[in-house]
Amino acid sequence: MSSLATVIPHFISGQRTEPTSGRTADVYDPSTGQVQAQVALASKAEVDAAIASAAAAQPGWAALNPQKRARILVKFVDLLYQHKDELAVLLSSEHGKTVEDAKGDLQRGIEVAEFASGIPHLLKGEYTDSAGTGIDVYSMRQPLGVVAGITPFNFPAMIPLWKLAPAIAAGNTFVLKPSERDPSVPMRIAELALEAGMPPGVLNVVNGDKEAVDAILDSPVVQAVGFVGSTPIAQYIYERAAATGKRAQCFGGAKNHAIVMPDADMDVVVDALIGAAYGSAGERCMAISVAVPVGEETADKLIAALIPKVRELTVGAPTDPASDYGPLVTRDALERVTGYIQQGVDEGAELVVDGREGEIAGDPDGFYVAGSLFDRVQPHHKVYLEEIFGPVLSVIRAASFDEALGLANDHEYGNGVAIFTRDGHTAREFARRVQAGMIGVNVPIPVPIAYHTFGGWKASAFGDLNQHGPDSIRFYTRTKTVTSRWPTAPDEGSAFVMPQMG
Ligand code: NAD
Repeated sequence: MSSLATVIPHFISGQRTEPTSGRTADVYDPSTGQVQAQVALASKAEVDAAIASAAAAQPGWAALNPQKRARILVKFVDLLYQHKDELAVLLSSEHGKTVEDAKGDLQRGIEVAEFASGIPHLLKGEYTDSAGTGIDVYSMRQPLGVVAGITPFNFPAMIPLWKLAPAIAAGNTFVLKPSERDPSVPMRIAELALEAGMPPGVLNVVNGDKEAVDAILDSPVVQAVGFVGSTPIAQYIYERAAATGKRAQCFGGAKNHAIVMPDADMDVVVDALIGAAYGSAGERCMAISVAVPVGEETADKLIAALIPKVRELTVGAPTDPASDYGPLVTRDALERVTGYIQQGVDEGAELVVDGREGEIAGDPDGFYVAGSLFDRVQPHHKVYLEEIFGPVLSVIRAASFDEALGLANDHEYGNGVAIFTRDGHTAREFARRVQAGMIGVNVPIPVPIAYHTFGGWKASAFGDLNQHGPDSIRFYTRTKTVTSRWPTAPDEGSAFVMPQMG
């Protein structure tokens, strides 16, 4: 086993912990294609040590009053802001998104930590005075105990923060298993939490792969698992977590449609689609990967306007402010995306911009691919049915609003969906009838703000309750309801009468 200097270890009981499993994975610099570090892959014993550390810290942490926990969170938020620029550079170096985009990743995560620092208010229960004679009923929210988060590569700051901040604020202690592809920022986040005053063991990070995940899922100590990643793994985690009686919320993949009505402002639509389909190389679960223009004329105008804009995208080093987007995360991801482009061609979709031949401003060994645009995609094409997770936009033409709506509704995924129109009635109909969790009206990536909740429908989410906002507090707490009777006068104590409905 190499030394701590070259192997990204674990963070257990408030310190970086020498790995013992003997297994590691490569961490790449996607902009050069070179391996820049190794990350430890935890064994079951190492995961158990992290869970034990969280279990030991939990009673003391939960016993701190919510105001005191909130103060520590406020300090944590402060430190995240102080270190935001440095963290963004680190994040970008492992993920490949531009540094500007990495700042957005951090910002969206910090906002949820800010939300969670309102925990005294969020934990307030309900109270009914005199539900019966001398009987009061009240409910309180209590932490679950030790909880876990398993997170994807594409938002290595935001999604861990979405999970850990509400959970910890509510009095739980946490074991985070971040993506093994970009593990450094989660480690720094744990160090900053400690610096902010979170006692050792409140936030632990175990790096690893399936072995570490399975150890979390099978642990009888872990009470809840929050997962974000691809749909097959989300479903696997949901089922395996349920087998040991855990609470689980597992968010999966997406194929987000943008419906373009004939009355939409085409300049606005094109700008929005370029950002939403190609930004961050399309590696966003809320990326728009399908545009559905309604009517042939709308479709022709859209394609004509998109082609030059896709070709003009600057694809280069994530540290170069001129880059619109950087490389994909790994060579595997690059091969998967270029494989889908060929698949679309073979299926008969019209590849009007071929990203495989586009100009790249970055290192030729980096995992870059320029933007691709497909026209006349059909509902049975794999490039339409499956998540590509790259800078590829598929245009599927619809004859009417109902046909466009039907496409979005019939799709397996239901994460986000957008409509572009100037007509309020159409927008309202759309928002009411569309089968997806997050809806944009003239907004291409409708990621809700921190104090609302985030979550998809259909194969984009398994389990109940959304991420961040009030749902996150509900997910990481359980309700206890107390019915108590304190007769005020001696004769009122003689006959016990249950409160009656009606
Ligand atoms: P992934 O499913 O490969 O990995 C997610 C996590 O699961 C990682 O921590 C990984 O180590 C672990 N994992 C991978 N294979 C596993 C296995 N066989 N058993 C147990 N654990 C395993 O996802 P990814 O490639 O890191 O992230 C991209 C995916 O995440 C896309 O599908 C994207 O749409 C999705 N995503 C969804 C949301 C959402 O909120 N719905 C948000 C972001 C990303």
